[in-house]
This record gives sequence, structure tokens and C-alpha cells, in this order.
Amino acid sequence: MFTQTHINRFQQLETPFYYYDLNLLQQTLTACAEAAYSYNYHVHYALKANFNPKVLDAIQAAGFGADCVSGNEVKAAIAHGFTNNKVVFAGVGKSDKEINAALDADIFCFNSESVQELLVINELAQAKNKIARIAIRINPNVDAHTHHHITTGLEENKFGINTWQLEEVLATLKSCSNLEFIGVHFHVGSQITNMDVFKNLCLRVNELQEWFDEQGFAIKILNVGGGLGVDYYHPESNSMCDFKTYFKIFRDYLKVKPGQEVHFELGRALVAQSASLISRVLYVKNGQKKNFLILDAGMTELIRPMLYQAYHVIENISSQSENTINYDVVGPICESTDCFRTDVQLPESKRGDLIAIRTAGAYGEVMASGYNLRDRVESVYSEVEVTQASL
Ligand SMILES: *Cc1c(COP(=O)(O)O)cnc(C)c1O
Repeated sequence: MFTQTHINRFQQLETPFYYYDLNLLQQTLTACAEAAYSYNYHVHYALKANFNPKVLDAIQAAGFGADCVSGNEVKAAIAHGFTNNKVVFAGVGKSDKEINAALDADIFCFNSESVQELLVINELAQAKNKIARIAIRINPNVDAHTHHHITTGLEENKFGINTWQLEEVLATLKSCSNLEFIGVHFHVGSQITNMDVFKNLCLRVNELQEWFDEQGFAIKILNVGGGLGVDYYHPESNSMCDFKTYFKIFRDYLKVKPGQEVHFELGRALVAQSASLISRVLYVKNGQKKNFLILDAGMTELIRPMLYQAYHVIENISSQSENTINYDVVGPICESTDCFRTDVQLPESKRGDLIAIRTAGAYGEVMASGYNLRDRVESVYSEVEVTQASL
């Protein structure tokens, strides 16, 4: 909840900005770490969800590793103190430059997605006289039951290696002297709230493990990816994921052999609830059938609603009005799709009111763009508030 202190502070600031609740972030990290470490699980944070410097610092300090999907993310992770032996690098289209950067950083592991890529990594590693550790990203053909734009584990997806290609992959690994096979990697989708999906993933991984055994390939690392979903509808009452239940699914269903490590790559679940996008109402436009609330934030600051029809709670945090009105909440960008949601029930709103768009900490600020030559969106942190209050 935003208190009067928050609102007073926000009123002094230029909008729009991302407001980070670093306390909630810390609590979330602690809850996740405790649940994971009780089973000796390793958690890598997927930087792509949010690479705000303060967020990265907090996550690094909490002991998490880093899951990167670009060479620059690898560099950012190292620059923020993630040790190279806790950095993994995934992605369907790693360029030579990015692979070289990761080899130079001596990262823990490449999560590799194709035979072609294995050959390239081998060649580049050979040129540097290095051995690249490899986990194979397998497409387990598990339906994540999530929005089709964020499903990644089905056969018709661009991600991962399909099971019928695995023999060729193993033959390639055998022939590449600068690759060391260390494990298997899976990531079936994002914003998964149905725990059966993770159970199905475990059962599939168990089957695949037997097959690798038969081929004489020892798996040291079982990396089951990320994808744990958050509650976009109840950011207050359900502000943290149930990490205990999540990890217990793997404990109960994943067959782990002695000496094997289980790795996770959580992004959204660690950061989503800890930020809100704060904006102001610029204008209220009353049409014949519709009322538009025109904000000073749009798809250039938070594109999820426009890109994935994502739902975010939208609140007017400064209105004193007791009347409720239905608004289409839109941004200022010259695109009809620049709409956060239609028919949002809000207290009667006026120019200057503060609007909070909640659960914006994942895939929010990182996807901000300069379209329409907009200013880069600012970030404001809760810890600064403490300092200001004490002044
Ligand atoms: C995006 C991504 C993740 C994190 O996904 P979340 O849904 O944010 O947890 C993990 N692993 C890989 C390979 C990814 O691409």
C-alpha cells in the first residue's frame, strides 16, 4: 500500500518513474533463498527480467547466481559482482562476439540450443585454448498452460533442441574436444501458476535422464529453468510467491542422483512485485461512450499490456473522490495500442492525480524504449525515502 508519506514524496517528483520497494525485494529474496537452500538447490537470477543496478546488487548480495541471455548481460552480471562460476548463458542466437565474451569471462556454463551452435562454441573455445562447459537446452514438449506469447517448451517453438535431435547432439559433443558436457537445461515458459506444469516437467526430465544414462552420458547439472508466476491481481494480499510449494514439487517429483546439482533460473518471481510504475494523469477525455484517462506513461515505459495483453492492477493513489468511473487508461504514444486497459474502475480522476501500475518489476523497466524520442524512464527507490524522512 502506498502511504501518505509515499504520496507526498511522489508529488514532489517528476513522473513517470519506477518505484522500487527494496524491502519487499529483500523479503522475497530471503524467502526464495531459504526455501531453495533447504534442499541445496542453486538459483540463478534471470537478468532479463530486470537489470536495474540496485536490483542486481541486492540479488547478488543474497547469494544468487546469474542467468544471462546476451553477452552484455554476462558482462553486467560480472560487473555487479556475480562470480563467473555462478553465471550461465542461454539464448537461441548467441553471436560469436557474445560467445567470446562469455569464454573470456570463464562462465560456469553455456546452455546450448543447437548442433550448429555447439560447433561454433567449440571452434571459438579452441581458438582460445579453453574448454567450454555445456548444458543442452532440451525442448521437453511440456505445455506451460500460459499465454501463447510466453510459452517456450513446445515442439513448434524456436527454443531448445527437440528430443529427436538428441542423438546428433551427443555425437557432436563426443567429437568436440573443447566442449565439456555437464548437464541438461529446460525452460518451458513464463508466468506459470499451475504447479502441475512443473510436476510434468519433472516427470519428463526423469525419462530423459534414463535415456542419457543409456547413452553413457553422465548428467551433473539438472537445470530446470524458471517460469514461476506471480499474482498480478493481488499485489497487496499476495505479494510473494509460494517458493516453498514450488521447490517442494521438484523435491517430490524430480529424480536426483547422488552428486547431481539442481539449478533454477527464476526471473519474474523474484522481482515483479517489488516495483510499480508511477505516473500522473495528464488529461481526462470524456467521450460519448467512453472516458479516457491519459497518463504521462505509456508503452514506452511498460509495454506488457500492449505486447502480451498482460493484466496489471491500476490504482489512483491520490484521488479523494468517492465517485467511481470507468476509464480506458491510455498512454501518450502515437499508437492506438498504447492502452494499459479498458474499463478500469477508478475513483473520479483529474489532471495531476497519481496513478500506480502495480507488479511492474519484471519485464517492465528493461523493456522501456525510446520510441517517440521519449525520455529514459527514471527509477526511485524506497531506501531513499528513509533518508529523506530522517532529514
Ligand atoms: C526468461 C528466462 C528465464 C526466466 O523466466 P521467468 O519466467 O522470468 O522466471 C529463465 N531461463 C531462461 C532460459 C529464460 O529465457
